[in-house]
Amino acid sequence: MNVILLGAPGAGKGTQAEALAQRRGLVQLSTGEMLRAAIRAGTEIGKKTESVMKSGGLVSDEIVIGIISDRIDEPDCKNGFILDGFPRTLKQAAALTKLLAAKGRNLDAVIELRVDDAALIGRIEKRAADALAAGQPVRADDNAETLKLRLLAYYRETSPLIGYYFAHDQLKTVNGMAAIDDVAQQIDDVLDGKA
Ligand code: AMP
Repeated sequence: MNVILLGAPGAGKGTQAEALAQRRGLVQLSTGEMLRAAIRAGTEIGKKTESVMKSGGLVSDEIVIGIISDRIDEPDCKNGFILDGFPRTLKQAAALTKLLAAKGRNLDAVIELRVDDAALIGRIEKRAADALAAGQPVRADDNAETLKLRLLAYYRETSPLIGYYFAHDQLKTVNGMAAIDDVAQQIDDVLDGKA
């Protein structure tokens, strides 16, 4: 089963993708996490993407499409994967459709986690505070100033994907304002054909 989780920064994609991956034996593919790992490892991709990520902008389509195309071919993705943070532009969505067809893979569901805009800022601030309290590093882009730019990038570049997948009869929307377990149940209902 191959699934896309769509939603604004702070909508809960990472939390739900991780839990869903565990429930269904799938692999969570977070392009943001892969890019942060590349920055930590000091790879060429990391060097190219660090400043744009820090400023809240989007990394080039070519880079992320290449990363995802390679990653999907790895053996652990055979049972299925959850895309978390990809695609983020119409160009990426079109490239994904094409590359899945070329690899003979299906897209089983596109699930939008819908969250009120006003809640997003509070959620990101909480994520940063929780990381700090746990003695973990705070993401370079988890601050109020950069979040505004990330939200702008979401509305300008990513939110059109909701229309794109709706028009392809693939979109399902769940209420991302519900408690974490409730959202997980809504996602299961979609995947089990009950919603
Ligand atoms: P995330 O962890 O999904 O919030 O992503 C963090 C940052 O990584 C984003 O603000 C972008 O700079 C970059 N990024 C992650 N995924 C993509 C993508 N699919 N396209 C472009 N940039 C991305």
